[in-house]
Amino acid sequence: MGVVKIDLPMTTLAQPFRRVFTYLILGGFLALGTPLVHSEANKKLDGIVLIISDGTSLELITTTRDYALGADGRLAWDKFSATAFVRTYSASDLVTDSAAGATAMARGIKAINGVLGQETPDSTSGPASILDLAKAKGWSTGVVSDDSVTGATPAAFLVEHRNRSQYDLIADKILDQFGKRADIVLGGGYKWFSDRSADPAIKYKDGQVAQVQKNAEKREKSGVAYFDDWNAFLSAKKGDKPVLGAFFPDAFPYYADGTRALRLRDMVGEAVKFLKAGDKPYLLVAEAGLPDKACHANNAKRAITEVLELDATLDWLKTNAGPNVLIIVTTDHNTGGLIFNGPPAPLRTKGDALLGKNPVSEHPYLTWASGPGANPPKPDATPVAEGHVEATQPALLPRGSAFHTGGDVWLVADGPGSETIHGSIDNTDIYRIIAKEIAEN
Ligand SMILES: [Zn+2]
Repeated sequence: MGVVKIDLPMTTLAQPFRRVFTYLILGGFLALGTPLVHSEANKKLDGIVLIISDGTSLELITTTRDYALGADGRLAWDKFSATAFVRTYSASDLVTDSAAGATAMARGIKAINGVLGQETPDSTSGPASILDLAKAKGWSTGVVSDDSVTGATPAAFLVEHRNRSQYDLIADKILDQFGKRADIVLGGGYKWFSDRSADPAIKYKDGQVAQVQKNAEKREKSGVAYFDDWNAFLSAKKGDKPVLGAFFPDAFPYYADGTRALRLRDMVGEAVKFLKAGDKPYLLVAEAGLPDKACHANNAKRAITEVLELDATLDWLKTNAGPNVLIIVTTDHNTGGLIFNGPPAPLRTKGDALLGKNPVSEHPYLTWASGPGANPPKPDATPVAEGHVEATQPALLPRGSAFHTGGDVWLVADGPGSETIHGSIDNTDIYRIIAKEIAEN
């Protein structure tokens, strides 16, 4: 007798019925004296890691593989065994933004674009965060991002707020959640937790300085261990206090630009270490925030190198997280409409050659559906060489920032519980999948 596996679509059978159904069938096997190799009823998870790579289309994953390894190479992303397609529409739009996309995964509901953790801008509360469900079972919880931690994706897990752009107010609400929803939050965005207006490189809008000063006061009184320097975070002895680490003024710089040593992989690794120290199961939500920003700018080099950073994180998790950790990796939406054109695209073409033109047909290998690549360059602009980190590829529809696009997205998973994930699911099902695992462990 092999593994007892019952796969039912998440959206067609209510949770309690699924569980009863599962136990009835397992009971049937036991009554017949069939040896039970594995059941959903007795597994114990060490933890769950949900990774969201913002704005990362399947076309971008393929392009990254071709660029870095060649078409027959294998990314860590390729080594996950469970896969699904994910529908991503929001409560207001066929094409979601990151706020509604993250709210679907964090709360199990469809929200209006731009709204965090609640259904509409006027909602007075939101449903429980997946972090709350983990906390209610005594788990440790953490959130990591290489965007500002006030950005839409991490924020929808941490707070309820009417407008994703009010970063100063979102930071204030995040500070209320330490020890409640989150034990550790690592990422960018220190300008929202302290007044950095003396730094000429850091800009605020009207009224934000007064708010971030209040945030700094609240943070100092909160008992949260706060770090704005990675080395100080690494060398600090971690006690029982919740931890906030914000290591750049806002989002991290692009890895391709060479001004950033700190990697998403390192933050995820340290967060896992911190969460495991409590000797309890843990839930970690981590965002690779920069593929989306690079795609908005039609910048394939930056997008590809950020996906390689994501992949380094997946490789670390696969090697170090242990067999009893459910790892779910997905994206919230596609961004920019990246297309890899061909043929002819000679099979062994790799690296920066893919960022420019095909030498035979003289068409670009990579084009975008919308974005700044469609704008004619200003007459006095310095030409940017193909393959240079600043170079964009051509786009069809002129936009200062590329559109998100509405195609279904991918999900890959591994570890206990991943065997039930397959087929065409909804982004709100990701919440239900994780909630079920938390409830059963
Ligand atoms: Zn975006």
